[in-house]
Parts: sequence; C-alpha cells; structure tokens
Amino acid sequence: MLRRTKIVATLGPATDPPGELERVIENGMDVARVNFSHGSPQEHVRRVQTVREIAAANGRHVGVMVDLQGPKIRIEGFKEGGITLSDGARFTLDTGLGSDEGTQDRVGVTHKNLTEDLVGDDILLLDDGNIVMQVEEVSANQIHCRVLNGGPLTGFKGLNRLGGGLSAEALTDKDHADIRTAARVEADYLAVSFVRFGDDVVQARDLFQAAGGDGGIIAKIERAEAIENVDDIIEASDGVMIARGDLGVEIGDAELPGIQKRFIRQARESNRVVITATQMMQSMIDSAQPTRAEVLDVANAVMDGTDAVMLSAETAMGKHPAKVIKAMDRICRGAERHRIAFNHRVDARFETAEESVAMAAMYTANHLRVAAIVAMTESGATAKWMSRNSSGIPIFAMSPNIATVRRVSLYRGVYPILVDAEAMGTDVAEQQAIRELRQLGIVNKDDSIVVTKGDLTGITGGTNSLKILKV
Ligand code: PGA
Ligand code: MN
Repeated sequence: MLRRTKIVATLGPATDPPGELERVIENGMDVARVNFSHGSPQEHVRRVQTVREIAAANGRHVGVMVDLQGPKIRIEGFKEGGITLSDGARFTLDTGLGSDEGTQDRVGVTHKNLTEDLVGDDILLLDDGNIVMQVEEVSANQIHCRVLNGGPLTGFKGLNRLGGGLSAEALTDKDHADIRTAARVEADYLAVSFVRFGDDVVQARDLFQAAGGDGGIIAKIERAEAIENVDDIIEASDGVMIARGDLGVEIGDAELPGIQKRFIRQARESNRVVITATQMMQSMIDSAQPTRAEVLDVANAVMDGTDAVMLSAETAMGKHPAKVIKAMDRICRGAERHRIAFNHRVDARFETAEESVAMAAMYTANHLRVAAIVAMTESGATAKWMSRNSSGIPIFAMSPNIATVRRVSLYRGVYPILVDAEAMGTDVAEQQAIRELRQLGIVNKDDSIVVTKGDLTGITGGTNSLKILKV
C-alpha cells in the first residue's frame, strides 16, 4: 500500500553530506522545505537543484517549498555569548544597543519600534518561552522588565508577546528578496511566516507572481492574530501550516490541540491543503528512535486529516535525517490502517463541474470495488478536490504539466504521473495509466479503475466526465 499522508522535510547541513539526500528521498520525502530563516540564498538554491537532480534520476516528483523568515522579532547578541538570568532579576530590552553589546542587565532587539507596542504588565517570552519576563516600564527606547522565569540566554533568540499583537509587518525587505529567489528556483510552494490577515497572503502572492512564480501559497498560522482572521487567511491561501512552534508561544501550548483539529478540518472543508508542523519527532534530532509521545503525535495528526506532517531540525540539523523519514513513514502507514473518516461534503452545494465530477468519482470509488482513481488534470484541481475526502483508494493525478505533478506531491492520497501533452485525455493516456499502475502493483487483470477527464484537454477546469474502466 502507498502511504497517503505526505512528508515535508527541511533541508540543511545534515542533509548535505554525499548520499544523504538520496536516502532521504528514497525513504519517502515528498516535499523538500528550504528554510530562509537560516543560511544563505546560494545555499538554498544549491539544495533545491540537488533535490531536483536526484528526484529526476530516480523517477520521483518531489515538491519544493520555500519558507520565508518573516518578521521574527529577536534579541540582539551579547558581548560574551550569553548570560544567565535569575528569577526576580531586572532586565532591560534596549532598542539602542547593537548586535554584540548585550550585558548581564540589557540586550538590543531587532524590532526598533518595539517600545510602541508594549505597555506595563505585558508578558514577554524569549527563546520559545524558556525565559519569561514581565514589562514594568516602557520609555522612549527601553523596556524595563522583571524576570519571572530565568535561565541561560544566548544571543539572537526569538521574542514574542503572550497574546500576540506586535505590529511587525508580515513581509520584510529580506522576504521581498527571498520571494524573487523562490520564483527563480520555480518553488512549488511559498510558505509565508507570521501572517496576520488574508491581505498578507494576497500581497505575498502578488509579489511572487510579479517575480514570475506560480507555486501555491501556504499561510503559516503562528500568530495570535491569525486565529481571529483564519477564515480570510484560508480563503486567500492555497494551504495553511499549523506552525505549532511560534503559535504555542503566542497563545499558550494548551490551546494547540484544539486549534490543530479545528483548522485541519476547516482547511479541508475549504478545499485547502494543510500541513502539521514542528517538534513532531523532536527527540530524533539526537535519538535513533522517536518517543511514544511523538509516535502518537504524528499518528493523531494523520487521524485528524492533515495532508502532510513536517520535519524541521530533525532532518535539517539532526543526527539521522534518513532514519527520521523512515520512522515517520512507518507511523503514518500504521495510523492510516485505521478507519479515518472526514468530510464528504454531503451538505455542500457544488460550484463547478470539476468539483461535482471529483465528488462523484469519490462516491463511486468508495462504494464500487475499484483499485485506483485516475484524474487527468491540467492544474491538479480535480485531484485536490478528490483528496479532500477520506478514502483508502489511491488517487493518481495524471498531467503533462511538470509544475502540476510536483504540486500534487503535497495532497493526501494523491500520486503524480507525468504524461505527454498530446496523449492527455486520450485512450493512449488511459493505457499508460494502466501500465504504470500495473507496474506499481496497484491494479491487476480484471480490476476496475475510475477515470475522470475533460473533452477539452489543455484547458484548466475542463474536467467534465467520469469513466469506469476494467483492466
Ligand atoms: P518556523 O515555523 O520553523 O519557521 O519557526 C514553524 C513554527 O513556528 O512552528
Ligand atoms: Mn515559526
């Protein structure tokens, strides 16, 4: 059986050694994430090229997701690496200090307007919540705080306010430049960090398209404001990422399970893709095995209906990137063996022929004995509609468009097949589909398959018919 849930894995120094990326791809990475919060653009461009070369050499279609840094607010550095803060100590964030001028009682911050956003009693979380302080007094360029939870603190750690509300713009100057790089490498997805409202997503899409990009836009839900505006954000995006790292710091970790379940469901019902991210296999940065809690976390996301589960430091900086993918693959498959039912749009009104045909295909496939579903699709839209329903039957997206076959790598239960443009929608393509499915061991003689296609091939949104074929 094919794994339905997709694996997004972050590339980094740990996937660079010769042979490592081959193993990562072989073990099941579906989408490679390059994280522009770290490293140089040249490094990311090189990694994207390497992924595509290895994938092509192995007959695989691996998607590429460029993840923008966004306005992550950080403290600046210290004169001597770091300090240790004790509970109850006084500490000052000083917007006038440079990047290596921090001392035992003060440090600089990257967001120079921070003083305008804070008032007395605000709670600040540094280093993902490891250090907690309370604002006592704000002056023109200083924020005086009392340390509530102390500990070691080194330079350039993130800084959040509990409850959110810091005014930093979603797209920084660096993001503008990185969006052009994303377009240049033909990124299949662009992930936008710290979005506040739908307009941030629209703006990112406009910039990406103006630079020549045509991949999907993934809105990262990681700010308290994004929760309030989630309807608009989902509407404006092609998919969302439940970015549990920063989100947990902003809204409190106890809110995460409810939010994860609610947004996975809402994204799917809105025909959007959804990625569950951060710390899923955290202990495997060092360990060769996941903890039981991690096994359950990954499995629960699968059972919640996520399209993809994501790995960050586990593959980018961990000791065994390929092993982590293998473990995640095993856990996803294990979870998928149990009946998972989500939305079948029984109460929905369909808006287009393509959505109707996709739903009819799923109803047919789930109720008739068929071995596979084949969607002949220009843009992948029909396959996306199909994959919003739960089913144990694999969906093959057959397209002449290389961007499409790479884009569907993120859709749950969807597998790409590249076909000649001339053959698209004809008997020749159907024969090719059957041949490939036989080779994969998906269909045997006398099995039935469901095929959807359009009369007018070459036109997006042209799907208008459904056919049942016997092998
Ligand atoms: P990051 O986003 O890894 O870019 O911080 C994910 C998260 O915050 O969970
Ligand atoms: Mn984040």
